Amino acid sequence: MKLKNKIVIAVDGFSSCGKSTFAKLLAKKFGYIFIDTGAMYRAVSLFAWRNGLTTGGKIEEQELISKLQHIKIDFRYSGDKVCTFLNNENVENEIRGVEVSNLVSEVSKIKEVRKYLVSLQQAMGKNKGIVMDGRDIGTVVFPDAEVKLYMTATSNVRAKRRYDELIEKGFDVSFEEIKKNIEERDNNDMSRKESPLMKADDAIELDNSNMTVDEQVLWFNRLLLEKGLAIK
Ligand code: C5P
Repeated sequence: MKLKNKIVIAVDGFSSCGKSTFAKLLAKKFGYIFIDTGAMYRAVSLFAWRNGLTTGGKIEEQELISKLQHIKIDFRYSGDKVCTFLNNENVENEIRGVEVSNLVSEVSKIKEVRKYLVSLQQAMGKNKGIVMDGRDIGTVVFPDAEVKLYMTATSNVRAKRRYDELIEKGFDVSFEEIKKNIEERDNNDMSRKESPLMKADDAIELDNSNMTVDEQVLWFNRLLLEKGLAIK
C-alpha cells in the first residue's frame, strides 16, 4: 500500500478511543509525522498547574494568556516512543496524570490558548505528510485534510482502555474515577463554545468498540483505495 501524494490525515473523536494509537501506527506505516494535539493542551495545563495559575480547578485565564509565548512545546523520539516536551523537559508521563486530566477541559476552552496551539499545529503540518489527532483537526486545524476520521467507542470500552494504560504506567487510579473523567471531558468538549468536538461534514466515522487495531488498519487501507489516494 502506497500513498499517491503526501496528504494530511486528520483523526478526531472522543477521549480515549484509541485515536493516538491508531494515528501513531498510520504515521509509522507511511513514514509521516505524528502529532498528538491532546498532549499539547495537556502540556499547557501542566504549565498552568505548576505555575500556580489554578485555584480549585479554575484557571487564572489572563495570567495564562499573558504567559503563552513562554510555553514551548515539541515532540521528540525516545527510542521509538514519541514524547512531549514542555520548555525542553520531557513531561510525557506527567501530562497523563489525573491532575492534568481534570484541568485540561478548562484550559482547552480558552480561545487564546486554542489560537496559539492551532497556529503551532498548522505550522507543523504545512508540508503535509502528517497524521494529527485531536478534537478539531478536521473542522478547524486542517479543514482541507484529504482524509478525516471521526473515531468513537462506547464509554465503557474507552474507560477500560485508559485504565489499563494508566495502571501499566504505574498510576494509582480507579476504573470509576477514569470513566467519570472521560464522560465529563466528552461533555465539556462537545458543549464548549470554542471549536467544540463535532464530526466534520466530510469525516468518516469509525466506531472501534469491537475492532482490533489490525482490523482498523485494514478498514483504513480499503478507505484509501476507495478514495483513490493509494495504490496497492
Ligand atoms: O486527546 P486527549 O484526551 O489527550 O486530550 C485531552 C483534552 O485536550 C481533551 O479532553 C480536550 O479538552 C482537549 N483537546 C482539544 N482539542 C484538541 C485536542 C485535545 O480541545 N485538538
